[in-house]
Amino acid sequence: MKSFVCTLQSGRVVFGAGSLAQLPRELELLSAHHALVLSTPGHADLAGRVSKLLGARASGTFSGAAMHVPVAVAREAREAAARLGADCLIAIGGGSTTGLAKAIALDSGSPIIAVPTTYAGSEMTPIFGLTEAGEKRTGRDLRVLPRTVIYDPELTLTLPVVLSVTSGLNAMAHAAEGLYARDANPLTALIAEEGLRALASALPSIHHAPRDIEVRSLALHGAWLCGMVLGNAGMALHHKLCHLLGGSFNLPHSETHAVILPHAIAYNAPSIPDALEQMARALGRSDPAAAFYDLARTHGAPYSLRALGLAEADIDRAAGLAVTNAYWNPRPLERDGIRTLLRNAWDGTRPH
Ligand code: NAD
Repeated sequence: MKSFVCTLQSGRVVFGAGSLAQLPRELELLSAHHALVLSTPGHADLAGRVSKLLGARASGTFSGAAMHVPVAVAREAREAAARLGADCLIAIGGGSTTGLAKAIALDSGSPIIAVPTTYAGSEMTPIFGLTEAGEKRTGRDLRVLPRTVIYDPELTLTLPVVLSVTSGLNAMAHAAEGLYARDANPLTALIAEEGLRALASALPSIHHAPRDIEVRSLALHGAWLCGMVLGNAGMALHHKLCHLLGGSFNLPHSETHAVILPHAIAYNAPSIPDALEQMARALGRSDPAAAFYDLARTHGAPYSLRALGLAEADIDRAAGLAVTNAYWNPRPLERDGIRTLLRNAWDGTRPH
């Protein structure tokens, strides 16, 4: 058996349909009296509802969260938090909203209660990101790890089917890369396998019955586990490529994860026999790379970088950028191999 070190980090998790109603109790447990409720503009109504639920314990709402946490938005939100004397941040929404809460917490140290409405997984990690002049800077800091996470599947019933599938594949990517992470350990492996199993079963069902609360619960359960892996194991090629394509080519987050995952796994396949076996077991398929591709394509999600708007001429530049800042990956990064990977992903070819 391999040697390992394991320090599993996680906030308190409250899971279940209707669990949003537990928010006042959770706020009390943190001894917080002035919560700032954060959301995207599209979820301003929900933020208002949450604020009402908290009564005098809510000090205000800020509904300006945006993808990749632009520095200007973070500054505005930090000012609002300071002005309102916020002693707790409630992030209700997807990764963009949680990311904004993290940007404030990084500055103020205020605890975060995250109420995720997508499967992105940011609520389980101490990873933050801020974007300035098209450059995304990320880092890890325990101050930004949400202290409490409320998973209420009822809030995910409205997540559009295609976004549910791409967001689910975003989560599965955390687990897949977690299985071959350099710092993986027996616990992260167990969690990753179970997360993959839950989402592999839930996503096709969401496609047929998006408002089925049992199916949504299974998907959110999987997202929790996959997010836990992201927070506790290092990521490799897949996440680096998605970060690059999002940051330098402005491609959309979860859609890019959905397109790249099959190709990143196919690239790494010769170097990860054990992880492939675990993925195969979880997915119920002998060919994990093709299984991820089929999961996207047969459920209406995008499966090519071309469809996401990447120009063909950018394939070379992306391949060059991907091998310049070298990072650990189970299979060494070879420019030609990465170029072929990106070409296949651009064309939307099914890996085999
Ligand atoms: P998102 O938060 O940007 O949400 C996408 C869109 O879906 C938004 O318009 C949002 O209002 C809407 N939406 C969210 N939940 C909904 C629901 N239940 N019903 C209807 N609409 C809903 O997307 P995301 O994919 O969750 O997050 C992406 C961002 O999170 C990226 O910036 C990414 O870098 C970051 N992220 C960070 C981490 C981390 O650990 N730091 C992990 C994963 C993602």
